[in-house]
Amino acid sequence: MTRFTLKGLTLADGSVANIVVSDGRIQSIGSDVAGEEFDCSGLVGLPGFVDLHTHLREPGFEQSETILTGSRAAALGGYTAVHAMANTHPVQDTAGVVEQVKTLGDEAGYVQVQPIGAVTVGLEGKQLAELGAMAGSKAQVKVFSDDGKCVSDPLLMRRALAYVKSFGGVIAQHAQEPRLTENAQMNEGPVATELGLAGWPAVAEESIIARDVLLAEATGSRIHICHLSTAGSVEIVRWAKARGISVTAEVTPHHLLLTDELARGYDPIYKVNPPLRTSKDIQALRAALIDGTIDIIATDHAPHPAEAKDCEWAAAAFGMLGLETAASIAQDVLIDSGLSTWARFAEVMSQTPARISGIAGQGLELVAGNRANIAVIDPKAKRLIQGGGASKSSNQPFGGMTLPGAVIHTVFRGEFTVKNSKLAK
Ligand SMILES: [Zn+2]
Repeated sequence: MTRFTLKGLTLADGSVANIVVSDGRIQSIGSDVAGEEFDCSGLVGLPGFVDLHTHLREPGFEQSETILTGSRAAALGGYTAVHAMANTHPVQDTAGVVEQVKTLGDEAGYVQVQPIGAVTVGLEGKQLAELGAMAGSKAQVKVFSDDGKCVSDPLLMRRALAYVKSFGGVIAQHAQEPRLTENAQMNEGPVATELGLAGWPAVAEESIIARDVLLAEATGSRIHICHLSTAGSVEIVRWAKARGISVTAEVTPHHLLLTDELARGYDPIYKVNPPLRTSKDIQALRAALIDGTIDIIATDHAPHPAEAKDCEWAAAAFGMLGLETAASIAQDVLIDSGLSTWARFAEVMSQTPARISGIAGQGLELVAGNRANIAVIDPKAKRLIQGGGASKSSNQPFGGMTLPGAVIHTVFRGEFTVKNSKLAK
């Protein structure tokens, strides 16, 4: 039995307490001390982070990432659970594949790896995958997504929404109208025109979101919108929520900080789907995260090997790393801005993503008796970001930037996975 005390920790409500962890659970929060003591004065303790959108690349693309390396990156980022996207090879579209991913996650042992199931067979957008079989499998899949591709057929989307409603599932849509984005390379606008790169219009995202919130309303089902990137998308989600539609939305760290101006160097490290947008979009996304229109931060951690990025822009893969830097960007937007609170931070990084997916044992309040999944961060630290960290890939968009905050400890099921900012196992 492992027993230790996180001493003098500041909690999300501003109170200061000792957390005694024993045998996988929080034994007490207060003044008690037991076992080995870790001085946490000045550090903030939050429920372990939960990522609803992670590409772990295994099976099939182990040259980019494995479930083990991605799990280590997640732990270093303060995560105790990640949701593994379905665009693997083979695709996570059967009970067998999702169970395999879950088993590999359990064996890695750094975070809870919850597989996401594909909406359509082979992500081909033609025929619904075995959603019920994946939900009923040992992986207990509740979130389904063809992420990387849009479920563009409205009839299939309507059927998928209606189907998952029967077991409380949710469809997570990658909103990208395919005809409006053929060969698109970056945000449509003055920078794309100047650089001679094919533009990716905001309406390609917004038109799908508008359609899908209406389909969610018509079916009475739940829809989750992946990686909102435009001010217009925010307006549609705000309208849908006001109308009472069951919609939730995520924003990535990179869409909260980086703009399409970065494409000027033609460095494909900044090539991502959906593309980096404008500072006006960033302002809208930040405001929406604070006011609750956007529910969560999800990383869309998308590792790629060097050869997929060390090439000209048009040939490069879409995507960037995110697990080890997300908490810093959350801190920048919510805390260092002076506009929000640690309680909101805990919601967007842990509690709400856990609630959307219904993942057991995650996103729980730090109270006695609950499973001990805890992230401890030093908000005063500054970090110069270099390289890819624990990821197998190094497509790091924040390289060379100094970001606020650092994850000091991560506790997963009562054991340290990260201790003093280093992997503990
Ligand atoms: Zn996507």
